[in-house]
Amino acid sequence: MPKRILILGGGTGGVVSALFLSEQVRGFGFDAEITLVNKDEWHYMPPLWMDVALEGIPLDETRAPIRNLEKYGVRVVVDEAVKIDPANRRVSLAGGDSLEYDYLIVALGSRNGWEAYPGLAEAGYHNYDPEGAVEFNKALREFPGGRVVILVPEMPYRCGTYPMEFATVLGYRLATRGINPDITLVVPMAPNGATPVEGLGPDIAKLWLKYFEKYNVKVIPHKGFERVDPGRNVVVTKNNEIPYDLLVKVPPLRLPKVLEDPEFVYPDDNRFTKSRAPDFRHPDYDDIFMIGEHAMEPTGLSTAGVFIHVAAHRASSEILYELGGSYPPEKVPPVACVAYSGDKGFLGVCEIEYDTSQGKYTWRKCYNALESGMIKLVKRAFYQGWLNRLRF
Ligand SMILES: Cc1cc2nc3c(=O)[nH]c(=O)nc-3n(C[C@H](O)[C@H](O)[C@H](O)COP(=O)(O)OP(=O)(O)OC[C@H]3O[C@@H](n4cnc5c(N)ncnc54)[C@H](O)[C@@H]3O)c2cc1C
Repeated sequence: MPKRILILGGGTGGVVSALFLSEQVRGFGFDAEITLVNKDEWHYMPPLWMDVALEGIPLDETRAPIRNLEKYGVRVVVDEAVKIDPANRRVSLAGGDSLEYDYLIVALGSRNGWEAYPGLAEAGYHNYDPEGAVEFNKALREFPGGRVVILVPEMPYRCGTYPMEFATVLGYRLATRGINPDITLVVPMAPNGATPVEGLGPDIAKLWLKYFEKYNVKVIPHKGFERVDPGRNVVVTKNNEIPYDLLVKVPPLRLPKVLEDPEFVYPDDNRFTKSRAPDFRHPDYDDIFMIGEHAMEPTGLSTAGVFIHVAAHRASSEILYELGGSYPPEKVPPVACVAYSGDKGFLGVCEIEYDTSQGKYTWRKCYNALESGMIKLVKRAFYQGWLNRLRF
C-alpha cells in the first residue's frame, strides 16, 4: 500500500512541500501518494499584497489556482480542515469527509487576530489579506496627505521586515505623487530598548535609517499597545497617544482555529503551535511535521516565508529519507531574502545554525549583501516565476 502523505495548507509551506515531495517521489519511484488540502481555490503569494496596496497591481497577479498542483501528481482537496486526530492519524474536513495519513505536514499560516485589542478591527487599513489590500489601495489613491501611522501592536508579527519595507516604499510612492511624506512607525520596544528596526542587526538597521531620513519616517517605540480610538483618530499605548490621519495596522498573529487544540498549542506561547527543532516534528508525534508560520517560535526561526521554505524542505527530506531516499535530511542553510527599500531593494542574508544545547535554531548574524534597484525587479520576478509554476 502506498504511503499517504497529507499536507494541510496550500500557501508557502504547503506548496513548497508538495512540489519538492512530488518531484522526488517521481524521481526515486517511491510508493507514496501526496494529497494537499486548502480551504480555498487559490495559492497566494502574500508579499505581493503590499504591491496591491501600494502599486495597485491586480489580485490575479498575487495568486494561482491551487488545483494546478494536480499537474505535478499531487491530489488537491479544496476544503477546510476542522479537526486533526493525531492518535488515529485522521483529519476531518468541513465538507464531512475525513482523510487518513502516514505522514502529515501542517502549514496553515496564521490568523489575523484583529479582535485582540479594542478598536483595531474597525480602524485603519492593512494588506494582510487580499480584500484588505484592495481596500487599502483605494484609500491610498484618495489620500491627500497628512500623518500616516504604521502600527505594530505586538511582537512577533508576520514578516519581520514588513513595517520598515512598507514605510520606505510608501514614502517613495507619496513623494512621487508630490506629497511630502510624514510617516510614523509605532512599534513595540523590547525590555533592552530594541525595536523591530534593529531586529535583523546593525547592518540592516543602518539601511532602514538611511531611507527613514530620506522619506521622513519617524519611530515611536511603545511599552504596550492598548487600543485605537477611531472617533478621535488616535493610537493609545501605555506611554503615548499618537494622532493619525491614515492608520496602517499590522495584525496580532493568532492561531488558525483548527490548531487551537491542546494537542497542538505551544504551552509557552498560545499564539504558536508545538514544533521540534531541528526536524520540525510534533514533539509527541513523529509522523506529524509542524512547519507553518504558526510553528516558527518554538524552533527559534522567524515568521516569514523564507523560513517556512527551509522548514518545508527539511521536513520533506525527512519523509523522503524514511521512504528510502539516498541522501540524509537537508540541513537548514543560510537564509536569503529580497526586500524592498524605498525606490530600491536589497538582498538580506541571515546565517542560522542549530544549537544542540538549546534545542533551537539560533541566529549568528544578518547582513545586507546587495542594495540595488535591480533587487526590486528580482523580487517581483521571483514571485511571478514561482506562481507561474501553477499557471498553465
Ligand atoms: C503583507 C505580507 C508581506 C510579506 N512579505 C514577506 C516577505 O517579503 N518575505 C517573506 O519571507 N515572507 C513574507 N511574508 C510572510 C509569508 O507570506 C508567510 O510567512 C508565509 O506565507 C507563511 O507560510 P504558511 O505556509 O505557514 O502559510 P500561508 O502561506 O499563509 O498559507 C496557509 C494556507 O493554509 C490555508 N488554510 C488555513 N487554514 C486552513 C484550514 N483550516 N484548512 C485548509 N486550509 C487552510 C490558507 O487558505 C492558506 O492557503 C509576508 C506576509 C504578508 C502578509
